[in-house]
Amino acid sequence: MKIIDIIKKKRTLSFEFFPPKNEINLPSLHKTIAELSKYNPDFVSFTYGAGGSTRKLTLEISKNTKQNNDSEVMSHLTCLAHSKSEIIEILSKFKNSGIENIIALRGDMPENQSELNGELKHATDLIEIIKSQFDDFCIAGACYPEDHPESINSEIDLKHTKLKQDKGTDFLVTQLFFNNDDFFRYRERAIKSGIEIPIIPAIMPIRSTKQIRRLTELCGAKIPESLNQKLEKSIDNDEETIKIGIEFATEQTNTLLENDVPGIHFYSLNKTRSVKEVLNNLNISH
Ligand SMILES: Cc1cc2nc3c(=O)[nH]c(=O)nc-3n(C[C@H](O)[C@H](O)[C@H](O)COP(=O)(O)OP(=O)(O)OC[C@H]3O[C@@H](n4cnc5c(N)ncnc54)[C@H](O)[C@@H]3O)c2cc1C
Repeated sequence: MKIIDIIKKKRTLSFEFFPPKNEINLPSLHKTIAELSKYNPDFVSFTYGAGGSTRKLTLEISKNTKQNNDSEVMSHLTCLAHSKSEIIEILSKFKNSGIENIIALRGDMPENQSELNGELKHATDLIEIIKSQFDDFCIAGACYPEDHPESINSEIDLKHTKLKQDKGTDFLVTQLFFNNDDFFRYRERAIKSGIEIPIIPAIMPIRSTKQIRRLTELCGAKIPESLNQKLEKSIDNDEETIKIGIEFATEQTNTLLENDVPGIHFYSLNKTRSVKEVLNNLNISH
């Protein structure tokens, strides 16, 4: 089923997972997915390793989950390191595996690859291919409440996001963020700029101070000062950080739900505890 058709009917709950580095660890991921399936997500998504190592597994897990679970599947696909013909081949494989939902992304420069094909420079190039070659995928795109780190300014970044809608994107999923006001302001600006497709906010429950500082440095999300001070105190105590992360994500999700969001997407980091506790705290079992 196309996710956009689910969004039209109800507020969605979704979880994101990343494929393991090698196949040996697939059973462990399937166990994690099964554990979170008890919360009846509307869809689960699987990231695509722009670096290459986990690409094949995205297809394999997507296919397997689609066949064996009740929830819909959204496969991530990045285009920066692929040629147009490679992308068409990959999309055909997704289609033949029954995958109906793709989040179309540019990706980032793979670490060990200095020269890229250069045919596909932006997510919109990928969206164009999907639309012109395959008429039956539901397409999602990424958006950035605090701007994409490479963007020149907020206006231009929003203009590029609007282009995703104009080229055929059905809905957007945000980068992680910790200040709901950033999301609300972004949503308002997006609507004013003509973006009408649903924008699903994504939540990442923090699990480790060092890890979240690394991640936010890469993606440009800001950690509010009061949260940062708590995280500083628990820098060497991951158990304490997990508790701080659950408490913060619970409050953040609750406020988003009170403010008319079309769904909530959780960056699960392939762990069940934090997401489960947030959902239990909010009494959410879909
Ligand atoms: C929900 C979500 C899921 C993600 N999943 C993955 C994943 O599975 N694998 C992975 O490797 N990464 C993933 N990422 C990270 C993503 O690949 C990076 O953030 C990447 O740097 C940008 O991807 P994009 O699709 O937003 O790129 P784009 O939309 O192409 O934007 C990238 C930059 O180019 C600018 N831009 C866009 N279009 C144009 C244009 N036509 N002309 C000029 N400039 C333009 C934008 O303003 C922005 O600064 C994900 C991010 C999000 C938010």
